Amino acid sequence: MTDETARLAALDKAHLWHPFTPMADWTDPGHEPLVLVSGRGAWLTDSRGRRYLDGNSSIWTNIHGHAHPRINEAIRLQLEKTAHTSFLGFTNPPAIELARRLLHLFPDHPFDRVFYSDDGSTAIEVAMKMTLQYWQQTGHPEKVRFAAFENAYHGDTFGAAALGGVSLFFDRFRHCGLPVSRVGTMRDLEALPEAERNELAAVVIEPVIQGVAGMRPWPPGLLSDLRHWCDRHGVLLIADEIMTGFGRTGTMFACQQEGVHPDFMALAKGLSGGYLPLAATLVPKFIYDAFLNEPGSEDRTFYYGHSYTGNPLGCAAALASLDLFDEEKTLERLPAKITRLGKGLERLDKLDVIAETRQVGLISGIEIGAHIGGTGQGPVGAQVCRAARGHGLLTRPIRNTVTLMPPLCVTEEEIDQALHALELALLEVCA
Ligand SMILES: *Cc1c(COP(=O)(O)O)cnc(C)c1O
Repeated sequence: MTDETARLAALDKAHLWHPFTPMADWTDPGHEPLVLVSGRGAWLTDSRGRRYLDGNSSIWTNIHGHAHPRINEAIRLQLEKTAHTSFLGFTNPPAIELARRLLHLFPDHPFDRVFYSDDGSTAIEVAMKMTLQYWQQTGHPEKVRFAAFENAYHGDTFGAAALGGVSLFFDRFRHCGLPVSRVGTMRDLEALPEAERNELAAVVIEPVIQGVAGMRPWPPGLLSDLRHWCDRHGVLLIADEIMTGFGRTGTMFACQQEGVHPDFMALAKGLSGGYLPLAATLVPKFIYDAFLNEPGSEDRTFYYGHSYTGNPLGCAAALASLDLFDEEKTLERLPAKITRLGKGLERLDKLDVIAETRQVGLISGIEIGAHIGGTGQGPVGAQVCRAARGHGLLTRPIRNTVTLMPPLCVTEEEIDQALHALELALLEVCA
């Protein structure tokens, strides 16, 4: 076969199993998998040379753009030294430096320690296991239960999945999960029977906006109400900033919008700028202290870790990404972009086929009316995203909500381009 793209597509369809993907549809002869080969800034190029705006930041990871010379150089420099060394019993310069820098991102210094892992799910697992062990070591072994919200998403490993509230993904595994109290609102939480509340070890939340739920903002004030509720009842608060962290919502972290200090903060996706798998769980001093051995007392060690913990390449990328926030004034330049996105969403909102648009910072969801079936095959959100490809925009739907969440380096003109592509796609599919 002379066509390289066709060769790769055939091999992919023959050998691979993709995440969150109905594979019979993927391998259907009518489906053309997009083979992405390179990127620059907010743009990606496929194996046939077609260019697309990266409308969902490569699944919510990319911050400063693809192939940024600064991050590439940082990775290359580290690569000349080592790609990986063990963090069990050893340490390395980029991991040390990054921990210091991460803790300094919080002016009030609520966190004392950084525990590294590899992805969002494991950052959540770390917080969960630390929570349970913390209560065991502070005289509350009865605290074994987590509270989590309806439609929440915290990852796919078993512990994180137990917290997940999206029925389609998680219901089939419920019977092997942890005890979780599912709540929709603060009122549900307040209404928990006392016996159940006394078992609560922690509440977990995607602060300010839920992602996988379809880009759904919380009512303003809910996060600080939750913090107060946790304080009143001796329950720890885990903030899942895996999507919202690193500027997506307009501030460095979503919790800062309500001045809330959680007890754990889980970071991943944008931590390395979206370049390499790297995650961190930030922990305050009082939790860390409960894991210190008294001489001669029982063992309080946190027995948890992964082979690639503290990976120097990932940490080097993360350090360069943090440098770029200063050098490129990433946060300072966001308000104009956020306004531009808001204006465009207002325009889309007026289309008959749109039920609602939602936005926090550079995160947005465009929900198509439930009655709209589209002109093609499959769910309408997927049809619109397929059509948008034809107009140079890559993104993914969540059911009938199309997500638009470009890298923070996106320009105002590129935001207009993305919205225009989406509008054309909507008109095409929903006419
Ligand atoms: C993506 C995501 C996760 C899981 O992160 P992975 O790196 O995919 O394991 C957890 N929570 C939220 C809010 C996410 O968006």
